[in-house]
Amino acid sequence: MEHRRWGRSLWLLPLLALAAGLLALPPAAVEADLGLEGIAEPRESAAPGGGNPKYIALTFDDGPRRSTTTRLLDALAERGVKATFFLIGSQVEDNRDLVRRMDQEGHQIGIHTYDHVLLTGLNRADFSAQVDKSRALLKETLGHNDFLLRPPYGILDESVKRWAGCPIILWSIDPEDWKDRNTPRETEHILSNARDGAIILMHDIFPESVDAAIQVVDALHREGYLFCTVDELFDLRGIPLEPGAVYSDACP
Ligand SMILES: [Zn+2]
Repeated sequence: MEHRRWGRSLWLLPLLALAAGLLALPPAAVEADLGLEGIAEPRESAAPGGGNPKYIALTFDDGPRRSTTTRLLDALAERGVKATFFLIGSQVEDNRDLVRRMDQEGHQIGIHTYDHVLLTGLNRADFSAQVDKSRALLKETLGHNDFLLRPPYGILDESVKRWAGCPIILWSIDPEDWKDRNTPRETEHILSNARDGAIILMHDIFPESVDAAIQVVDALHREGYLFCTVDELFDLRGIPLEPGAVYSDACP
């Protein structure tokens, strides 16, 4: 398994996308092809919405949380869908098996600080205690060192960019799932804002968000969307992810 993700060339993806367009393969089948070993065959065979495939990235912050994250991983595996998880370092300690499972099943992993704190206004040592400490923990857990960064609340400044040491990933669709934890409202918000190249922000620590994510996956599959990791989303557009640069979507 290739471990240096951002910056590497995912040369296979465009070929598979082309094949999907030419052969009108069901999106779920293509995702299964893109997936790494251990991913179950998708349960449903989604019908393409017509035309070229559309790509979208599901991202989850604030985990892992054993109950909800496990249920989400099960549902994603059933559907052959890969997502990106921005983890809180302090919650990785007791959930290393879950983090390894994410990695083994082809999901991408990022840093969301060690204690879920605002990264602006910190000195270098305090920044390091949040970001570099989380990176070291993930490296020790997974054996690679290619993690994206998502600052809590999406708030950053020049110091965060200078010290990040990796690409900084924000989002373009925010259902504010933490606010009222209302599955139908969150689902509707995401579906009505979905577009090719978008990055969806959710939190896998809430049962209602897991329910919404599953409904979103099934609904967008029916519309011909393919789900991919953040790295894959940008690679498909030929956009290199650079350390310290900030990205919110890969919309054409
Ligand atoms: Zn957060």
